[in-house]
Amino acid sequence: MIQSLSTSLLYAFISFGIYFATMLPLEKAFKNHDQSIFREQWLTDCAFFFGQYFIWTGMIEYGLTTFDSNTYRFLFLIQSFREYVAAQPLWLQIFEVIFLCDISIYWGHRLSHRIPWLWRFHRVHHTSKKLDWVAAFREHPVDGFYTRLIENLPGILMGFPLEVLVGFMVLRGMFGLLIHSNAKISIGPLKYILGSPMLHHWHHDIHRNGSCNFANLMPLMDIIFGTYYHPKEFPDDYGIQEKIPHGYWQQILMPFYSRFKEPSD
Ligand SMILES: [Zn+2]
Ligand SMILES: [Zn+2]
Repeated sequence: MIQSLSTSLLYAFISFGIYFATMLPLEKAFKNHDQSIFREQWLTDCAFFFGQYFIWTGMIEYGLTTFDSNTYRFLFLIQSFREYVAAQPLWLQIFEVIFLCDISIYWGHRLSHRIPWLWRFHRVHHTSKKLDWVAAFREHPVDGFYTRLIENLPGILMGFPLEVLVGFMVLRGMFGLLIHSNAKISIGPLKYILGSPMLHHWHHDIHRNGSCNFANLMPLMDIIFGTYYHPKEFPDDYGIQEKIPHGYWQQILMPFYSRFKEPSD
C-alpha cells in the first residue's frame, strides 16, 4: 500500500514535470497576458491536478470500464450493431467516432451551462481568474465524470476497445492543456477546423458567461450551431461574476451547499 502510494506520487510528479517542461517554453515563446508562472490561485489548480491523479481519475476509470463491460450491450445495443461498426474500414470508424464525439461534447458542454444542477459542478472550471495550462486541471470530479462519459459515449456505444478510448482521452487531455495555455498562437485559416487557445479563452471570458466556443478539438459544431466567436484579440478578464471561495476543498464542496445563479446566455 505504502509502496503503491509512493509509486503513484512519483508518477504524479513525473507527469507534472513533463507538462511543466513542455508547456512552460510554449507559454514563454508565445506569451499572451503578462502574468507570473506562480500567479494567483496557482496552488489551487495544482491541488486539482494532484486530486485528479490520486482520487478521482481512478474512480472515473472504474466507472467507465464498468459501463464498458456488458452494460451498454444489454441496455442500448444489439450486438449486431457493434459487429456492423467493427466490419467497417478503420478510417471510417475513426472518422465516425471523432465526428460523433464532437457532437456529444458540444451538446454535453452546452447543456452543462444551461441545466442548473450541471452548471453547479461545471461552474468550478469557470472560476479561474487567470488562464494557463495549469488552469485546465480545475474541474470538479462530478463534472469530470460527466465530461469523460459524454466524450466517450459514442466510442463506447460503437464498441471501440478501451485502449483506443484511453488514447482519445489522453489526446483530448493534452489538447485541453494547450487551449487553456497563456499562449497567443495564431493558426491562420486553420482556425475554422481546429480549436485554439484564442477560442477557448473566450469561452472563459467573464463578460460572455461561457456563451460561445463549446467545442474542444474542432470548432465545427460551434460554426454549425452559431456559437463560434473568434475576434482578433484575447479577452482581458476571466472567471464568473459570482463571488466564490477559491480554496481546493471549498471548491469541491461548494456545489453541494452554496446557492447559485442560473447561467444565462
Ligand atoms: Zn476551459
Ligand atoms: Zn464551459
